[in-house]
Amino acid sequence: MRIIKNALQMQKIALGHVKNGDEIGLVPTMGALHEGHISLIAKSERNDDITIVSIFVNPTQFGSNEDYLKYPKTAKKDVEICKRNHVDYVFMPTVNDMFPADHKTFIEVEILQDVLCGKFRPNHFRGVVTAVVKLFNISCADRSYFGMKDFQQFKIIEKMTKDLNFKTKIIPCPIVREKSGLAISSRNSYLSVEERKASENISKILKEASEDFKIKDLNFIKESVLDKFKKIPESKLDYAEIVDFNDLSLADGNTRKVVFAVAIWIGRTRLIDNTVMIKQAKCR
Ligand code: AMP
Repeated sequence: MRIIKNALQMQKIALGHVKNGDEIGLVPTMGALHEGHISLIAKSERNDDITIVSIFVNPTQFGSNEDYLKYPKTAKKDVEICKRNHVDYVFMPTVNDMFPADHKTFIEVEILQDVLCGKFRPNHFRGVVTAVVKLFNISCADRSYFGMKDFQQFKIIEKMTKDLNFKTKIIPCPIVREKSGLAISSRNSYLSVEERKASENISKILKEASEDFKIKDLNFIKESVLDKFKKIPESKLDYAEIVDFNDLSLADGNTRKVVFAVAIWIGRTRLIDNTVMIKQAKCR
């Protein structure tokens, strides 16, 4: 496994692999690697000749009052995890390499970037998409792996690659959860013991909603879920929305495939989670 810290060097290496006919998989991350990331790496290992894991805490996707400076950094451990999981290259660029002071180009995906998390984190997805496009170009990836935990991010990246004719195929990967149901996240390390306990309610509420989805009306589900979220101790809800899986518009009774997405503060930590629900066609 090689650690590459420079974008030009990474691109040169990747172009060499393309020339050899190798298929390249890219797993973009912000580091503090955990089982969720490892599941993406494992999928690339199965599909691709070469697996590149990028580790880059991207300043352009954080708001000025967000946790950019305190985002967990565990570089040594991350490198070990990559080695153990047969990664070929860890790409760890500097901020100056990815976004030098004279960087002027940003990419936006209209509408999709403005709903759900986009309402609460203006410019977040513009920063994410721009960094991901640069990583696609640097890595020459045939496939790139994204967790469904960041469902809106996955949809936005998927749309961007279609709109801009990228050759990179976007591979969605299921949410990896702790035994308690809590979606694994680098930010879980911010939680105190009590906050972690409170956070475990999030997936429980979503699970109950997906049971209700089979039999109950959407408005009823939404109200009962809002009520339950508001009762989680030490919490403040940003949103809990039921949206169309395809275009993130608000779902109604006729939407067959929906996503119930939530963003909630537990103490000073913002957590996101979601569940995909599909309405079965009625038997005649
Ligand atoms: P991050 O390092 O948080 O930016 O995440 C990098 C990638 O890992 C993104 O595609 C995330 O959606 C994915 N990811 C993070 N947590 C999980 C999880 N619990 N299960 C599956 N994928 C995840």
